[in-house]
Amino acid sequence: MSDVQIVWLRRDLRMADNPALHEAAKLGPVCAVYVLDDAAAGHHAMGGASRWWLHRSLESLSKSFGRRNARIVLRRGDAVEELCKLAGELGTRTVHANRHYEPWWRKAQGTLSEKLDLTLHDGNYLFPAGHVTTGSGEPYKIYTPFYKAMRAQFPPRDAVPEPKTLSSPDEWPESDDLADWDLLPTKPDWSGGIAAFWDVGEKAAHHRLAEWDADVGDYEAKRNLPSVDGSSRLSPHLHHGEITPVQIWHALKHHRSEGWQSYESELVWRDYAQNVICQFPGYGSRNYREDYDALQWRDPSGDENAARDLEAWQKGMTGYPIVDAGMRQLYETGWMHNRVRMITASFLIKHLLIDWREGEKWFWDCLVDADYGSNSVNWQWNSGTGVDSNMFVRIMAPLTQSEKFDAAGYIRRYVPELSGLDAPHIHDPEAHGCRPKGYPRKIIAHKAGRERAMSAYKAMKGE
Ligand SMILES: Cc1cc2nc3c(=O)[nH]c(=O)nc-3n(C[C@H](O)[C@H](O)[C@H](O)COP(=O)(O)OP(=O)(O)OC[C@H]3O[C@@H](n4cnc5c(N)ncnc54)[C@H](O)[C@@H]3O)c2cc1C
Repeated sequence: MSDVQIVWLRRDLRMADNPALHEAAKLGPVCAVYVLDDAAAGHHAMGGASRWWLHRSLESLSKSFGRRNARIVLRRGDAVEELCKLAGELGTRTVHANRHYEPWWRKAQGTLSEKLDLTLHDGNYLFPAGHVTTGSGEPYKIYTPFYKAMRAQFPPRDAVPEPKTLSSPDEWPESDDLADWDLLPTKPDWSGGIAAFWDVGEKAAHHRLAEWDADVGDYEAKRNLPSVDGSSRLSPHLHHGEITPVQIWHALKHHRSEGWQSYESELVWRDYAQNVICQFPGYGSRNYREDYDALQWRDPSGDENAARDLEAWQKGMTGYPIVDAGMRQLYETGWMHNRVRMITASFLIKHLLIDWREGEKWFWDCLVDADYGSNSVNWQWNSGTGVDSNMFVRIMAPLTQSEKFDAAGYIRRYVPELSGLDAPHIHDPEAHGCRPKGYPRKIIAHKAGRERAMSAYKAMKGE
């Protein structure tokens, strides 16, 4: 009898195109394990919305394993220690895992490979981070040349099928009960809106992909319109690894439209973000551009006005309808439209002059797709502090954005106080004299916010 093959699941909660599982199944009996390690990631431990998703996704994948008379063993604690313990119980040294690039997972992968025979597989990205390099063999720092170089390497690898059979160890090791992990909120249970918005799991991801196949052609035309369902909404499925970008790429590659070209470039952004955190592991908590360390942010921990403004932003009570709709969509559904993520991020950083890390932290807790690479790369892009970023001095005007991208329907959906208003009034009810009772005044005027941000920027530059 061959040794048991441990498959260490993390953000790869799927049966199909799972290279770690696929290889393990060819070599012997499989024991898949998920270890809930709350300490490894430090202050990037999984946020509330991600924990909700994880529960549902593990539940769904466990059923898929069950249909093959197999199980997922659940353990809680330090991932490396738990894997070593499990290997001892099973009398094996072999572990398969798909490679992840978060700094805490890279560290754990390194430590584990000193203790057991760990085989890392490349499964969650179009290409492994570091695969696409400049002519001199250096990793790219800037997105556009990275994108061009990656496109020149297409096609990505072929997807691997689900294992045909999974043979079991002689005896199943003990497992925690998923319900005991308390991943679902109870007091209060804030997850009703999220549960109504999403179907979780591998099957749901493929169902969404099939729908998206019919719509991807319109992506370029519709992707910036928050009132329209014009993007794939595959991000949480991708983040938790219920589907891979390789599966998506092969399923959609027959398209020739501008929409597909544009969509493909967004999948490359996802790979690019991993490429960045691989080079700069502290990207989620440190400015890449160190001169920004001197920027005088308003600090909510020591300034009660800043604390009040941060709370208004988090709760969607800023008096800017597009910002409030976005923040409420985030809280209600665990997701926010990309254009509105940019508007709300810019508003926090520039109009409120609050450090991007406060926003990153809130998104981390509230997003079902919260991803260390994608979140930090996008926050640093918006704040101008990143390796490839927008300039700090480009300050988005939320009211203009709201009109330009026709956000009226979106605002009516997420800010019920404004549901009786039409465009153009709905974009700025205060200016049109029709602000309903209960909806706040703007917490800062656009011009005043802009000027305060510019002064802070100039002071940082010593101008
Ligand atoms: C401040 C801010 C924070 C963000 N935080 C996250 C995050 O934590 N996790 C996350 O997955 N995305 C993040 N994004 C990127 C983007 O907003 C989401 O990926 C997108 O809105 C997800 O919706 P979708 O699946 O419909 O995307 P689509 O428009 O359909 O795009 C397809 C896929 O490409 C990837 N993608 C698209 N845009 C980006 C991007 N700008 N950067 C990286 N990957 C991208 C996603 O995996 C997405 O599912 C953030 C953007 C901003 C501005």
